[in-house]
Order: sequence, then C-alpha cells, then structure tokens
Amino acid sequence: MIKLSSLNIANRNLVIRVDMNVPIKEGDVQDLTRIKACLPTINYALDHGAKILLVSHLGRPTEGTYEEIFSLKPVAKAASEIFGQGVEVIESIDDPAIFHGNSSIQLLENIRFFDGEKANTEELGDKLGNLGDLYVFDAFGTSHREQASTHSSIIQANAACSGILLEQEIDALTKALNNTQKPYTAIIGGAKVSTKLELIKNINSKADHVIVGGGIANTFIKAAGYEVGQSLIEESMVGIARELLDKGKIILPEKVITSETFEGKNISEKNISDVGINEMILDQLVSQKIKDIVLSSKTILWNGPLGVFENDFFSKGTEELSKEIAKSEGFSIAGGGETLSAINKFINKDDVSYCSTGGGAFLEFMEGKDLPSIQALKAKTQR
Ligand code: AMP
Repeated sequence: MIKLSSLNIANRNLVIRVDMNVPIKEGDVQDLTRIKACLPTINYALDHGAKILLVSHLGRPTEGTYEEIFSLKPVAKAASEIFGQGVEVIESIDDPAIFHGNSSIQLLENIRFFDGEKANTEELGDKLGNLGDLYVFDAFGTSHREQASTHSSIIQANAACSGILLEQEIDALTKALNNTQKPYTAIIGGAKVSTKLELIKNINSKADHVIVGGGIANTFIKAAGYEVGQSLIEESMVGIARELLDKGKIILPEKVITSETFEGKNISEKNISDVGINEMILDQLVSQKIKDIVLSSKTILWNGPLGVFENDFFSKGTEELSKEIAKSEGFSIAGGGETLSAINKFINKDDVSYCSTGGGAFLEFMEGKDLPSIQALKAKTQR
C-alpha cells in the first residue's frame, strides 16, 4: 500500500476520506473520539504544506437530498476546536472555493447526500478521486463498504494512498490476527452468535481461549445442556455452538445474574446450572479462572459486552472484565461501538493497548476478510 509519508505533498491539494460519523444530539457532537482519531493525518498534511478537503458520511440520509439532521456542520464546529483552526463546510462538489477558501481545512457536506455514493458509481468516484492531487483514504471505520468514497474513488484516482490512522489500524489488527504472542485470549460478547459467527470461528482456530459473553454466552450455555429460561438465545445457532464447544477453547461463565424482567424484577446471582424457566440471564460474573486467563495472556482481543451493561443492574460483568483487561500487561485490542462505550464508562481508554475506531470493519477484518477499500489501495501503484 502506498503510504502518505512516502509522498511529497508540499503545496498539494489532498482529498482525505475520514470517518467522522459521530453521534450528534441537538446540534452537539456527543463523542469526539472519531474526530480526534483523524488528527495524525491532518496534522501531518498541514505540517507538510498541503491543503485539505475532508470527506465523510454521517448517519443514513436519503441519498440525493439534503437533510439538516444529517448535516456535517456540527462536526465542522467540533473539529475546528480540536484542530485549532477553522473548518469550512463546502456544500457542493463543484464549488470553485474548494482548495481556494480562506481555510486550509475544508469539509465537504455529508457524502451520503450525493447521488452515486451508495451505488459506488464510477462517475462520483472519478470526481472525488481527482478533485485534488491526491486521494488519501483514512476511514478505517468504513473500509468494509463498497461505496463511491470508499472504493470507486480509490480506483479512479490518479494518485491514492493510505492515511496514518488506516495504517495504525491495519498494524494493530494484524498483530492480533496473524502475529499473535501466546497465550492469546479472545473475549466475544454481545447479543447474537449469528452476527459474529465468522469471527468466533476464525478466532477459535487461532486463540488459546475464547471467553463468551452476553446473549452469545447464553446460546453456548444452552448448547452445553443447561436451562436458560427466557434468556436471549438463537435456537438456530445451538448446533454450531455445540460443535465449537467440542473444540475445547470456549470458556463459559460459572455464575450469572438473572432477572425476570429487563427492569430488574427478582434479580438473583446463580450458578449456570440453576437458572429457572421464568428467568433471563442478563449478566455474568467474571470467574477466578477467567481473571487468571486474562492476566496471564500476552494478547487479548475484546469485542462485545458480557451483559446488558447499559443498565446498571446488569453492568457488573462488563465492568469487572474491563478492569481485568486494564490490569493485564499483555497487548490488548478492543473494537466495536458497544465495547468502546463500555471502556469509556468503566476504565481509562489508555489502559487498553489499542482501541479500534471500527465497528463492522473491525469485525470483518478480524474475520480474516479482505476489506474493499484496503484491497483497492493495495492495487494502486506509484506513478
Ligand atoms: P453487539 O452489538 O452484538 O456487541 O451487542 C451488544 C448488545 O448486546 C448490548 O446492547 C447489550 O445490551 C446486549 N446484551 C448483552 N448481554 C445480553 C444478554 N444477556 N441478553 C440480552 N442482551 C444482551
């Protein structure tokens, strides 16, 4: 892949595809993580005398129409404060002010307002890819999508390269995928086995231990022959869960927190063998065995909570686990929206070696898939 640092970008116009898809409430950005993650590439480009037009998507607007609630204006405001200089919003891709405004950083309105983004058209790809002198792809979080700004633009651009965040993500994730130091422990929690089946299968072939959590654990608990009452499980996944259990790496919880309702009616702590037919497993305790495994691991991969952690009644397992990961001296890597919000809630983000900005892209990368944007970048040759 051609790296930004290998190119001369002085006085060049750079179109940088970033992922600034952030939560916004009443015009205010609620979480700045993804904007801050763009800083290394932006600072590098400015320090080397380039001008920047940022491109990002936000939410899921109807393509071809401007919708105020999906406008990137609040993002530009937050970004101006983080970057320490004005970020000018550009509404039209044909605006002659592009690269000729007063500001060294401009931000194109939500790329999903533009026809052709979703369909990955050659036309929009060509326009975006060649709007400046160089197309820099730095949006790891959308690198699993084949859209005009994430795929066609890279193919159509006369010159395209990877940004610094993308390189960091690929380096860190590859470490947990291929160059793992052992013992290697994966923790896979969350709601459903089906959404993470490929990940579980791939990791199960590489890791020494796979700790399951949340609704995913419930399906494995059922596969192991226990009563799960009214818990969230996936009946269609019980067979495959049984096959995975037979491989001997999956670690089930020993004690769980049950309740008759999500509101916490009759909460109780139970052995997994004692769950009643009217109960739901909504959290799990982190056993001594799991603590020992996490603390002695050299590589830890974490995706997905151990329980319904958004609700304080059922957040104990996820909190305990995040604290164990924070204590561990191994290389820890976490990804996924829910996982990062748990980290922000319970521990200091710096106590995890690497937090990926990707959700779907993180999962697909860790499944061992070739992501479309990365594939397109690899096919580019230096001119
Ligand atoms: P995911 O997006 O697959 O990582 O799933 C995260 C969601 O799973 C969170 O919103 C949790 O509330 C939910 N979850 C975790 N544990 C359970 C459980 N035992 N029962 C139902 N939902 C759960």
